[in-house]
Amino acid sequence: MEDCLFCKIIKGEIPCSKVYEDEEFLAFNDINPKAPIHILVIPKKHIESLAHLKEDDEKLMGKIYGVINKIAQEKGFKQDGYRLIVNCGKNGGQEVMHLHFHILAGKPLGEKII
Ligand code: 5GP
Ligand code: ZN
Repeated sequence: MEDCLFCKIIKGEIPCSKVYEDEEFLAFNDINPKAPIHILVIPKKHIESLAHLKEDDEKLMGKIYGVINKIAQEKGFKQDGYRLIVNCGKNGGQEVMHLHFHILAGKPLGEKII
């Protein structure tokens, strides 16, 4: 996807502060962190949002939780915990239309919506 910001990050056309990478996923620090640790985990495959997932993507989406767990372990916040957020579409407040999971950690995260 030529105009997709996160695809450009995957291709190395835009720099990022990389946290984790394998064949299928990339994780990097959010440019505008909302917590001491704010990591974005994305599939390398361009999927616009959760609403755009196809049946074929089920396996990939199953794996993303393993990646998140691995990052939590490696970065040392697994024990204290974290919050996972996925904004989907207009009402979800999604701004970058490439599926991404926000990991927030590093302090008690305060008010919960839910
Ligand atoms: P959304 O609102 O779509 O769920 O989240 C998009 C996130 O991408 C925001 O938290 C924003 O700070 C982050 N972001 C936007 N542009 C860049 C960028 O160029 N680099 C990085 N690392 N994060 C970005
Ligand atoms: Zn993309």
